[in-house]
Amino acid sequence: MNLFEEVSHTLFKNRDALSPHYIPRSLPFREEQITALSRKIAPILSGRKPENIFIYGKTGTGKTAVTKRVLSDLNEYAERNSIPVRGFYVNGRLYETGYKIILKMVKFLRPGENLMGFSLASVYDRLLEIIDEDGVRVVVALDEIDMVKKLSDLVYRLTRANDELERGSISLIGISNNPKFKENLDARTKSALCEVELVFPPYNAQQLSVILRERVKEAFREGVVEEEAVHMAAAVAARHSGDARYALLLLLRAGDLAEEEGAARVTREHVERARKKVEEDVAYEMVSTLPDQLKAVLLALARLEKRGMGVASFGGKNVVTTGMLYDMYKKVAGELGLNVVSDRWFREYLNELETYG
Ligand code: ADP
Ligand code: MG
Repeated sequence: MNLFEEVSHTLFKNRDALSPHYIPRSLPFREEQITALSRKIAPILSGRKPENIFIYGKTGTGKTAVTKRVLSDLNEYAERNSIPVRGFYVNGRLYETGYKIILKMVKFLRPGENLMGFSLASVYDRLLEIIDEDGVRVVVALDEIDMVKKLSDLVYRLTRANDELERGSISLIGISNNPKFKENLDARTKSALCEVELVFPPYNAQQLSVILRERVKEAFREGVVEEEAVHMAAAVAARHSGDARYALLLLLRAGDLAEEEGAARVTREHVERARKKVEEDVAYEMVSTLPDQLKAVLLALARLEKRGMGVASFGGKNVVTTGMLYDMYKKVAGELGLNVVSDRWFREYLNELETYG
């Protein structure tokens, strides 16, 4: 037998189907949210500006997938019927300032245009000019909106734009993983952003099983994943606040483990062992996508910890105070060539890190 007959045998049919970026064709248990969202957006197709929408729910409850799915259908429909409507998606974790977001909007509407280096005011003016010229009605979905600095300023700009525009409009969909985020908004931002609210509840174990089973069909060869493994992954993720992303990651890692050891099937045991790996993956993804300043604060904390200084040992000798941490942060930021933020901003960063656990 050819040597490669054996080693090239893979359990996966399409491993990408388990990646967090993959949007499945069907999103079970989200029919209600999909319908509600599209109904709320629909008026834009007949020329009216829809109300701004605020979507919230815990991580892995399908907010991003649903929004992307609805926007992609919106764009497809508008293009096919020659309606000047564009759905635009941006993630606040990657574009964390109003400047970057507005710049990205300009690029989205006019791919050839490069305004890098221009001031916020001029980029914003250019955005309005383009919208006015094209008479385009833009739906902006701002995902992980809690990550955006000076959010109220951005929301104010984008909503006020509608008073300045003669043609075209901007409407907003804000998305947050933090159900309490709304409470921290100032009154004006809240009333502008949260005209309509949509809640995404966590999935239970049964729902996660269904979601996983569908994905297993796309990702693995037939009969490779044991039913027990699916149940296990669903049960673990259900306890992990009903997070579908976590459930999918568990299966992916379990599949990798099974493949590494040349097993013919993915079992419940592989899922159990994948758990630890997934915890690390989740932390890695979280940390690697933090803005640089937050990374600097975290690195400062890690350094102090490494020297035996604890943060949790209240009453003990080795407690790190905010002041000590700020000093270390200044050092780290200097080394990384970042500008050193004020003590007040530093405390904000610290609070932010805390909300991510
Ligand atoms: P959120 O944005 O709420 O954190 P996501 O939309 O990113 O969650 O979903 C996390 C993962 O779970 C994605 O891979 C997504 O495709 C998947 N997912 C979420 N909800 C469903 C669903 N109802 N059916 C199928 N897959 C889902
Ligand atoms: Mg999301």
